[in-house]
Amino acid sequence: MGKKRVAVIGASGLVGQRFCQLLSDHPYFDEPDLYAWQRSDNKRLEEVLRVPSNTISDSLLSQNLSLINTESIISEKYDAIFGAIPTSHEHNIELELRKAGNRIFTNSSTNRMLDDVPIVVPEINSEHMEMFRDSDGYIIANGNCSTIGLALPLKPLFSLGPEHIEVTTMQALSGAGYPGVPSLDAVSNIVPYIENEEEKIQIELPKVFGTLMDHAIVPPVLDVGVTCTRIPVREGHTESVTVKFERNIEEEDISALFSEFRGYPQDRKLPTSPEQPIIVQQDQGRPQPELDLWNGKPERARGMAVTVGRIRVRRDYLRFVTLSHNTIRGAAGGSVLNAEIALSRGLL
Ligand code: NAP
Repeated sequence: MGKKRVAVIGASGLVGQRFCQLLSDHPYFDEPDLYAWQRSDNKRLEEVLRVPSNTISDSLLSQNLSLINTESIISEKYDAIFGAIPTSHEHNIELELRKAGNRIFTNSSTNRMLDDVPIVVPEINSEHMEMFRDSDGYIIANGNCSTIGLALPLKPLFSLGPEHIEVTTMQALSGAGYPGVPSLDAVSNIVPYIENEEEKIQIELPKVFGTLMDHAIVPPVLDVGVTCTRIPVREGHTESVTVKFERNIEEEDISALFSEFRGYPQDRKLPTSPEQPIIVQQDQGRPQPELDLWNGKPERARGMAVTVGRIRVRRDYLRFVTLSHNTIRGAAGGSVLNAEIALSRGLL
């Protein structure tokens, strides 16, 4: 099988540069063509770099960023396009590309809300991609970065019948893109509100756990309470989660459910899949972004595992803390793994 031709739109941004890292020397995909907007147009990637240069291949670092232009992108006939741009209903490049038959793996919050765009968390619901079995163009979305970090540890808990989920997020500054939150709001501070973020998690979570029926996703009723906060951490979203179950539960069962959980990417040994997607960290003071952000093996899957700790059970209540890498697992890594899944399912 020859490698697939791919492009990254929004390659100069924080998520786009993670795409460049993960697509450097990828076994399934050629090195991507890179596109950006006016700020970075015609600059080399290395001139706008915000991740360590040793994580990206020299040929990508020296590549010129082309201005995003739908007609010229369509004319290239890429096998897949990775989306790392802000999108609105009025300015929606990805919909234009889909109309022309392109397959897009997006991080756009606008597009993940569309009925014909599944939100796929690789280990949870990759079968939702089957809605595109007979389609040319399609968009497959990641969830919001906090939705992904929450959905993964919730998945194995569904066998115990969760009744109510309550989460408080502590989200990193990089979640707001570059330059992001003004420094005077961020330093030595906590902002207990992120616009539209709580609503996103409440809408996206049921979509991820929905059932595909007749090309449509039917979401379950999920009772989820959310509080989102922004904290002065560079990368890594931490979430404090409480789940109430239908009946009493045991602490040992929970640790095993987390650490034994595997999904489609692990069964197929896909290149960007972590061998163990949920790592249980038993030490009392963990997980911490400084110590656990880059969990995930092998090397290509660094940052793809979520780390869970502070597991406490009291009768029918479970409390735990989960940490995920927002620009890797919560964005670029999720999309690259989704594209690997699409290829493995014969949809690419
Ligand atoms: P970012 O650092 O601000 O980068 C935005 C990228 O989009 C840049 O390449 C920028 O090019 C380009 N761009 C800016 N305005 C544009 C426009 N009007 N049309 C087309 N392209 C435009 O943002 P980011 O954090 O990488 O986020 C990218 C996308 O991923 C967003 O949709 C965001 O909501 C989503 N997301 C982010 C995270 C995260 O943790 N950061 C997680 C999940 C999802 P120039 O450099 O030329 O301006």
